[in-house]
Amino acid sequence: MTAPYVRFQGVSKTYDGGSHAAVAGLDLDVAAGEFLTLLGPSGSGKTTTLMMLAGFETPTTGAILVEGEDISRKPAHKRGLGMVFQNYALFPHMTVAQNLAFPLQVRRMSRADISARVKRALSMVQLDGYESRRPAQLSGGQQQRVAVARALVFEPKAVLMDEPLGALDKSLREQLQYEISRIHRELGVTVLYVTHDQGEALTMSDRIAVFNKGRVEQCGAPGDLYDRPANLFVAGFVGENNFLAVRISGSSEGRVVASSPAGTMNASVAGAQAGDAVIAVRPERVALNPAEAPGLTRLSARVAERYFAGDHVRLVVKLKSGEDVALKTPRLEAETLPAAGADVTIGWRAADAYAFPPEDAPQTIKEHAAA
Ligand code: ADP
Ligand code: MG
Repeated sequence: MTAPYVRFQGVSKTYDGGSHAAVAGLDLDVAAGEFLTLLGPSGSGKTTTLMMLAGFETPTTGAILVEGEDISRKPAHKRGLGMVFQNYALFPHMTVAQNLAFPLQVRRMSRADISARVKRALSMVQLDGYESRRPAQLSGGQQQRVAVARALVFEPKAVLMDEPLGALDKSLREQLQYEISRIHRELGVTVLYVTHDQGEALTMSDRIAVFNKGRVEQCGAPGDLYDRPANLFVAGFVGENNFLAVRISGSSEGRVVASSPAGTMNASVAGAQAGDAVIAVRPERVALNPAEAPGLTRLSARVAERYFAGDHVRLVVKLKSGEDVALKTPRLEAETLPAAGADVTIGWRAADAYAFPPEDAPQTIKEHAAA
């Protein structure tokens, strides 16, 4: 295996006057050319991690290596990293071309080179011909395109982006997600991307590191996190999940049988093999009125809510335990779907549900389990 491009090695950060670590014992490798996203709720340490790599914050302990070299003492402007932030941060009194030329002038590049590079960078973000506009004459999406171009214009090996699309509305955000992904592919540049939006992370990333309270809960490809979450936090934060409080009655060969007032359930082991547990199952994995089959969980329920969502229909059903289960079912079947109040059976395959230990269950499940 080749050496990582960036390596965080036992990195912790406690701010002056801070009572707890903003980042605690971070070990993380980023490969050259990789698109790695730091995903997590507000306050989980994502920005702090990025700022330490950028050189605007100093780790309290640990080391950050870039291409094997400890950069802890290197000033920010010598690290050669491109940066994009949420609030554009373009120079308002300069034209688009002057904004893009700035990092090149700092690097003492010739006029001819600068003008060629500015043109290329603008073309990359599809803003050909916008050289003489000022930021105030651009829409939010266009300003953020300029910010992306400015971060890339000096051809850095890595670009750090901290919630770059956070200020944009949904459709523009989605459009720019695809555009940044395309630019990443075309340039082969390493990207460290921060977001609290799990959908954005799933769409854009080669790998995602899920942050919670200054620690990485799980790091992996989007499909891995989605299909095999390591714990309840990841199961709840990445995509949508139903959580059911159960007691395990038996386990063998990676499968458990569990029960609750809702009935008997099957699931795959994800840490819990005995005692109290929480079963997680995704809405699109819950079937409506499934035929009986070996190993299939079947539970009686009553339809509580039904929502038309365009490409699918969403049902919320109530189990005998009083717990709600959401399920998504394709639009095609919409005409035959039961209405609110109807008695139904729901079910899932053991391979599609996971039994987690209850320790770190979200608060609502704990309350339910205690009731
Ligand atoms: P995120 O980007 O995931 O929202 P941050 O890295 O900004 O998280 O913050 C992590 C923790 O560090 C939070 O508890 C936050 O309040 C704290 N923190 C962030 N910046 C500072 C600062 N400059 N001084 C003191 N505490 C800070
Ligand atoms: Mg942040």
